[in-house]
Amino acid sequence: MFCLQQISKTFIRSGLKLNQNALRLSSTTPVTGGYNFVLSETQKEFQELARKFTREEILPVVPKYDASGEYPHDLLKRAWSLGLTNGHIPEEYGGLGLGVFDGCIIGEEIAWGCSGILSALEGSGLGQTPVIVAGNHEQKKKYLGRLTEEPLVVAYAVTEPGAGSDVNGLKTNAVKKGDEWILNGQKMWITNGGVANWYFVLARTNPDPKAPASKAFTGFIVERDWPGVTPGRKEINMGQRASDTRGITFEDVRIPKENVLLEEGQGFKIAMKTFDYTRPPVAAGATGLAQRCLDEATKYSLERKAFGVPICQHQAVAFILADMAIAVETARLAWMKSAWEVDQGIRNTLTASVAKCYAADVANKCASDAVQIFGGNGFNTEYPVEKLMRDAKIYQIYEGTSQIQRLIISRTILDQAKQAA
Ligand SMILES: Cc1cc2nc3c(=O)[nH]c(=O)nc-3n(C[C@H](O)[C@H](O)[C@H](O)COP(=O)(O)OP(=O)(O)OC[C@H]3O[C@@H](n4cnc5c(N)ncnc54)[C@H](O)[C@@H]3O)c2cc1C
Repeated sequence: MFCLQQISKTFIRSGLKLNQNALRLSSTTPVTGGYNFVLSETQKEFQELARKFTREEILPVVPKYDASGEYPHDLLKRAWSLGLTNGHIPEEYGGLGLGVFDGCIIGEEIAWGCSGILSALEGSGLGQTPVIVAGNHEQKKKYLGRLTEEPLVVAYAVTEPGAGSDVNGLKTNAVKKGDEWILNGQKMWITNGGVANWYFVLARTNPDPKAPASKAFTGFIVERDWPGVTPGRKEINMGQRASDTRGITFEDVRIPKENVLLEEGQGFKIAMKTFDYTRPPVAAGATGLAQRCLDEATKYSLERKAFGVPICQHQAVAFILADMAIAVETARLAWMKSAWEVDQGIRNTLTASVAKCYAADVANKCASDAVQIFGGNGFNTEYPVEKLMRDAKIYQIYEGTSQIQRLIISRTILDQAKQAA
């Protein structure tokens, strides 16, 4: 539920006016039955706020950040002051206690402007979620509270140079020594790796190679400033260049036992549970990118002439637009259902994978089709769709590749079929 005082504080900080009456329609009010596609007044306000921020403050600087690869610190500060980041932190720890659905509404709008900037902001949500789902009161107070006091970001550090999809193959390890754990190893491809204040780190704590993943790993909160923590160089990626991706080396890092999440051996479950909350927002980001492709392609097709008529009058072009619209609409429905489920406490692992996988494919198809509609211009950096195509690709890779999503989906439906038999 929203806390009037805190949400008001956020809006006051941003200098914007908030409709107090709208707050009575909480976005997280339990739904007792039936589908409803109407956003609450508060959700509409957040959507409007995110749209305004995107169009007025993100869009003008997108080419600058895409070219420089610089981290958008100014946009982070502004988004933080508007209450567009950290919304999901519980009220008790200074956040707004928003649902996953609410965060997705905001994320889709920001991705429309630049999905790289969204990743820069949302990578922090990914890092925080293990603490939200598994942290104790003291951990939440210290590490989530910090993020509501200052515009800081965090990161989720699981992938390594030698293992991404195969989490069981992680080599980073932590060894218990008295009241501390000693962490050694290397992570790779960590979003916000160079700018995070702290990391969620998954490390092997059971040296037995035969130990099942569900017992072999522990999740830790590791501070960036601790001795032995060294982020690597900023990676130069194909797209989403405003997002900071790095390797991180951990060398004899001393972690107090207070920074273990849940308990020894629970890390794998925490790392996987996190995705139920974070895959719908990734799908919403991919949908925002796809919507932008559709909008740009539609506008261009009305302006560009070939054979004496606007190209949209050629049925082959109009049908590409129609297919893009079908894809955007259905990708949006997919993230909405999955986000709604997790907010209602319904197990959403299947729909989170469906939404993430589908929206990622939709983003890539729409980006490629938008480039096609732009013709030669689409291949050029002076037009917006070239960047959209570069940015789209990562949606099929991070937070579990499209193959891994299909693995989860197929295993789930096969298990269900076996149980029903
Ligand atoms: C820009 C960027 C940001 C990222 N951010 C983060 C982050 O913040 N935190 C983090 O921990 N990680 C992050 N990652 C890592 C990302 O999640 C991994 O790259 C991804 O999970 C794939 O792992 P991999 O690169 O090791 O590929 P691999 O696991 O080596 O996979 C290679 C290929 O094989 C396929 N494959 C592997 N196993 C199977 C299988 N069983 N069945 C079918 N196909 C399979 C994969 O789908 C893929 O196509 C990021 C990556 C990038 C590029």
